[in-house]
Amino acid sequence: MDNSLRNNKVLIVYTGGTIGMVQDENGSLHPFAMDRILDAVPQLQHTNYGIDSCQLDNIIDSSNMTPSFWVDIANIIESRYNDYDGFVVLHGTDTMAYTASALSFMFQNLTKPIVLTGSQLPLGMLRSDGRENIICALEIAATQQAVIPEVCIFFESHLYRGNRSTKVSSENFDAFNSFNYPSLAKAGISISYKQHLMLPMPTETMTVRKVFDTRIAVLKLFPGITPEVVRSLLGTPDLRGVIIETYGSGNAPTEKWFIDALQDAIDRGIVILDVTQCKAGAVKLKQYAASCDLDRIGIIGGHDITIEAAVTKLMYLLGVCGDDTATVKRLCSTSLRGELTA
Ligand code: ASP
Repeated sequence: MDNSLRNNKVLIVYTGGTIGMVQDENGSLHPFAMDRILDAVPQLQHTNYGIDSCQLDNIIDSSNMTPSFWVDIANIIESRYNDYDGFVVLHGTDTMAYTASALSFMFQNLTKPIVLTGSQLPLGMLRSDGRENIICALEIAATQQAVIPEVCIFFESHLYRGNRSTKVSSENFDAFNSFNYPSLAKAGISISYKQHLMLPMPTETMTVRKVFDTRIAVLKLFPGITPEVVRSLLGTPDLRGVIIETYGSGNAPTEKWFIDALQDAIDRGIVILDVTQCKAGAVKLKQYAASCDLDRIGIIGGHDITIEAAVTKLMYLLGVCGDDTATVKRLCSTSLRGELTA
């Protein structure tokens, strides 16, 4: 046991997800309110740090996640920020990487760990991975062995930067990965922290921004995509931002109808961000002739950002910057919380 944890306090925020689900008579898993979360993991009565818990008013399968839930989670953490040394958010795995990314952008100058975790099997099942995940996430949120001023995901045995994480398996216990940034800590017999990979401790006061503009779309390219589909998506009324999921290092068709459709959208003030469909690696505009037109017409390269971080960052920037699209574009390709390598 980590003796340096003594007297620290952690708040658990339960939002739903498999970790607390129960099966109905047909065998389908449903979200379930856990009035006494700590009763589900009796080992937690023997920690040498304090644990309190609370839950959202609506406990959900995370496939029902929306920005208003992100604001609810942020409100809880913000209102109790000074009472705890760290926070653990219990969350469904399906959209955990989106919530972790969203929280990372909302909390500016974060000085404490916010660790999201969940499980592939409910805590009530014998082989559940939830017990180990929750115990490790709590220990990390309470630790004094490392300074973790970040939103993270702990799963199986790794602590990942939240806005670098992606769900990679609906089956395996190691359900998450971070392809473009190393894990921040690894849990074995002890937890080994890689302090040099963590964000620096901020010197300015923590603030929370809670505005997301959801008027965005994701355009995933595939061979054979038609002009009708592209024009229809780009013609969505009131659209403000588009993430174009391109091939390889940011490449796309060079056909005139395609470039013209993108150019028309940019002329209408829509911000377009280029993110690769590859799990690892980065967008490098102009590396191939097949991305020169994208660069020429003003599409922004997303570097090595994940799609989850790109979606939440674009909603966040459009919300925070309003009509100042020049700033949105500049910040899209800038690292705000370690989400990309520029
Ligand atoms: N559907 C579940 C959820 O995301 C999956 C899980 O938690 O693993 O809420």
